[in-house]
Amino acid sequence: MADKPKRITDIGAPHFSKFLPPVIAKNYGKWKYHEIISKGAMKHVSETGDELYTVRMASPRLVSTDFIREVCDLAEKFSGGHLRFTTRNNIEFFPDKAQLDPLQAELKKRGHLVGGIGNGISNVVHTQGWVHCHTPATDASGVVKAVMDELHEYFTTKSLPARVRIALACCLNMCGAVHCSDIAILGIHRKPPKVNEATIANQCEIPTTIASCPTGAIAPNPAAKSVKIKEERCMYCGNCYTMCPSLPLADAHGDGISIYVGGKVSNARGPARMSRLAIPFLPNNPPRWPEVVNAVKHLVEVYAKDAKKHERVGEWIERIGWERFFKLTGLTFTYQHIDDFTFARETFRMTPTFKWE
Ligand code: SF4
Ligand code: SF4
Repeated sequence: MADKPKRITDIGAPHFSKFLPPVIAKNYGKWKYHEIISKGAMKHVSETGDELYTVRMASPRLVSTDFIREVCDLAEKFSGGHLRFTTRNNIEFFPDKAQLDPLQAELKKRGHLVGGIGNGISNVVHTQGWVHCHTPATDASGVVKAVMDELHEYFTTKSLPARVRIALACCLNMCGAVHCSDIAILGIHRKPPKVNEATIANQCEIPTTIASCPTGAIAPNPAAKSVKIKEERCMYCGNCYTMCPSLPLADAHGDGISIYVGGKVSNARGPARMSRLAIPFLPNNPPRWPEVVNAVKHLVEVYAKDAKKHERVGEWIERIGWERFFKLTGLTFTYQHIDDFTFARETFRMTPTFKWE
């Protein structure tokens, strides 16, 4: 027993108060108001009269230790050794007033995007993609880089009627925020799983696999200690593959991307809402996904032109109606837009009110 290493467990995360810049620690809970100075900087003023300056820069989320060391060096030089990551994986520094402009100049000189504050497009909340997960129908980092290269001006300089939250998930496990974002990019499959009869009996717990299917498309096949997929009932969600590695469904040509619109989480002006299908399928076209980039850009531009100030994408669509949304965007409305799952009825129009578009 003596040579057994001491096991340290259940210690939790370090307490956040250990990392607060002195001005935040001193004025914690005493903030009176804030001002947005520019797309990349803001000022908070405390009831004590103290001022806190924040500079925000984009990060690609997936970063190297060299990148972390670089931002730590910048924090040492400009921010008293302090920084934080936001809930959208941006990085924030806390310079004093005199360092506000030099820090932003230094970040820009190094090629970092300074911005993401206020009404525009901030970082894209995204997932693992082909970098690390085994269930994706598309990549995450690649698509996000291609989209933000095209839309970066909405991060740094250009404004929109309200903030436009873009999120990506590489499968419909929807890790992250695609179900509740203004514009959501979601990886989808279009072919049913293939049953690997040679491995399924040893790899998979059959009842759990059957129970994982939302449409009841999986039936037991006891003679083969396997399952049968009723393909006409399958809508390629991939949930059974998550449970059972002998049911792979990724397919280079079948897989691609769908686009959802109109979700939000805040309760400003109205309750939170789910995003809904706008484009059923766009191909995976690495490394730059031009079809997806063009579609997202087009949606942003139509919204920017037509929405009123403070109107989020979903609020804009609700005001103009879905018929007009499809007309203005030029998107094709297909049978795939019509809900056919358990509570679909609630999404059907139960009023004679509609617009001829
Ligand atoms: S969304 Fe799906 S594929 Fe992407 S990281 Fe989550 S589980 Fe993996
Ligand atoms: S992919 Fe989804 S719908 Fe199809 S069989 Fe598997 S769990 Fe069922």
